[in-house]
Amino acid sequence: MTTSKYLILGGGMVAGYAAKQLVEGGLNPGELKIVSADGSIPYERPPLSKGFLAGKDAEASIFISDDEFYRKHGIEIKLDCEADGVDPARKSVHLHSGEEIGFEKLVVATGARVKTLDIPGRDLAGIYYLRTLEDSKRIREKAGNAKRAVVIGGGFIAMEVASVLARQGIETTMVLPGDRIWKRFFTAPMSRFFENYYTARGVRFAKNTKVAKLAGAGAVEAAVLRNGEVLHCDMAVAGIGVKPVTEPLVNSGIEVADGVVVNEYLETNHRDIYAAGDVASYYDVLFDKHRRAEHWDNAVSQGQHCARAVLGARTPFVHVPYFFSDVFDLSYEFWGDPSGAEEVVECGDLSSSSFSVWWLRQGRLAAAFTMNRPDEEREAAPRLIQSKEAVSADMLRGGL
Ligand code: NAP
Repeated sequence: MTTSKYLILGGGMVAGYAAKQLVEGGLNPGELKIVSADGSIPYERPPLSKGFLAGKDAEASIFISDDEFYRKHGIEIKLDCEADGVDPARKSVHLHSGEEIGFEKLVVATGARVKTLDIPGRDLAGIYYLRTLEDSKRIREKAGNAKRAVVIGGGFIAMEVASVLARQGIETTMVLPGDRIWKRFFTAPMSRFFENYYTARGVRFAKNTKVAKLAGAGAVEAAVLRNGEVLHCDMAVAGIGVKPVTEPLVNSGIEVADGVVVNEYLETNHRDIYAAGDVASYYDVLFDKHRRAEHWDNAVSQGQHCARAVLGARTPFVHVPYFFSDVFDLSYEFWGDPSGAEEVVECGDLSSSSFSVWWLRQGRLAAAFTMNRPDEEREAAPRLIQSKEAVSADMLRGGL
């Protein structure tokens, strides 16, 4: 068994940003190994459903660090390599290949994998999911000669992919189980704004229904909906959520419950083992609850935080949840957690593409959405959530 001082299980964004942070913290060559199921060195995921998918970003531009960075700092990345067990007592990770790697400190950053459709026709050619660089390349290539697409889901992937496909002139229909788009984060007026924006740009919606089967001779030719509608298409992209990758931890004794359970220091219940990114169910001190955050910003900040932790800095991870999205020519940002809010305050004009929405809970700011708004609002949103100071609707409407 070879032993590495620091081992990161998972070669995604956490690994990419943790490696950079470790180097800044004085990492010596040979001290860090990364075990990655992916075939590429760590890359940024947001462009996969935005600029890279649209053909605007070059592949080289999306890597977090280039090959030379890892070579220069003596960081070994084992690509296309999966782990099937973690042994906290022996402080080792077992790989499918039979190899065992020891560690002094381990960061579990196995991320998440896509949920897949469980319907007839699911194995036809022309059906895609989007998680990896290779997935994005395959969709991009297919979109080059597609005329009609069905996008299944009403979340991030579906909204971003549908906008990219529609902008390429592909007749696109989104199929969503709910009665409106992105119900988890958007208020009804926000869903209405986005649905109108998409409709005006040629996207159709099939709401309150699911795809019952995908049909075609070898490749997908149609999506048959539960409501009986038949949508002819030459490609289908499903963005129906993800689930955390925790299989390597089965029987390890590391606590798992919708992800790897960690405290506010991102420590698991085993000494010297941390978790970060999509897989980590961390204790959020600001909202006083455990949460898993499946966003770029969380992977970056937790990757950096874990790197500092393995180097000896034991500080709580205090961070306002954040994400951004780009659809068509719009960019929006979202901070916090709207669940349980008692009051929603809208600023700006919800029929224009410049507005913000603020969720209040017990007189404090719980979440905020801004799109094309003054910098003062963007700056105030995370600050007010973190400070927990008293906030009123009048104060928000009066301008920050
Ligand atoms: P997601 O954001 O969780 O959304 C899943 C959507 O699929 C929901 O609208 C859900 O509806 C719907 N759905 C579930 N089962 C379905 C089914 N059988 N048929 C049709 N629709 C179904 O997941 P995602 O969009 O697949 O994104 C995957 C991951 O990438 C997430 O972790 C996401 O955070 C991340 N991502 C983030 C960004 C960003 O931050 N900008 C961009 C792209 C991807 P209900 O809600 O009604 O169940």
